[in-house]
Amino acid sequence: MCVVTKNLEIPRRALAIGAHPDDIEFGAGATLAKWSEQGCEVSLLICTDGSKGTWNPEVNIKDLITTRKSEQLLAAKELNLSGKVIFLGEVDGELENSTNLRKRVTLIIRNLQPDIVLTHDPWKKYRLHPDHRNVGCLALDALVAARDPLFFPEQNMPPHRPKELLLFEAEDEDHFEQCEGFEKSKIQALLCHQSQFESTMGIGSSDIDSGANSFREVELSKLDYSHIENDLLLAEGFKRISEL
Ligand SMILES: [Zn+2]
Repeated sequence: MCVVTKNLEIPRRALAIGAHPDDIEFGAGATLAKWSEQGCEVSLLICTDGSKGTWNPEVNIKDLITTRKSEQLLAAKELNLSGKVIFLGEVDGELENSTNLRKRVTLIIRNLQPDIVLTHDPWKKYRLHPDHRNVGCLALDALVAARDPLFFPEQNMPPHRPKELLLFEAEDEDHFEQCEGFEKSKIQALLCHQSQFESTMGIGSSDIDSGANSFREVELSKLDYSHIENDLLLAEGFKRISEL
């Protein structure tokens, strides 16, 4: 039987690793806002440049990359995050879990020393987007490398072993973070990603207000886990991996 846990002790530092601008807010935005308010230093690592995130084939790619970066920074402000927002800048849709990239992410983990790492569940069934799978694997492999001293010794950094790993958009959710009072921050942060209104959020340009309202309702309904436990009316669900 699956054991459900709730509400980890507030970490001192957390690092969320996502494939694209907006992924982390979808997966863990309310949890990160909650932890931030309690004094946790939350940093974000965005692995790709988001350069394929539009349905407009005429778009200027450089402008899109700049826009998505600034939207991500705004979203981090909306969540009141006090850590860093780091952009790896890999090409959207083409990220590979290479040794070189794993080395870069390992160095970031060793530098930031997070108590908790959050990322995509790489084992989510039937997921189409390769970046979500590959970033999940990249983050996990980098975590393993960061904790053991014989991986990338040329970094000349002490190893760092996070205490917990939380996978968002998870196949088998077994941990929940209650987030009453932080659902609005999550949704406002998501709405900072205006370039994604049409392609990701279903908000048409003809009536942005009503589209945004529908989006709010859908996102709020996703936070309702009361079918699992009564007190999980507003929560985010994760797969939790401890004893790393
Ligand atoms: Zn994504």
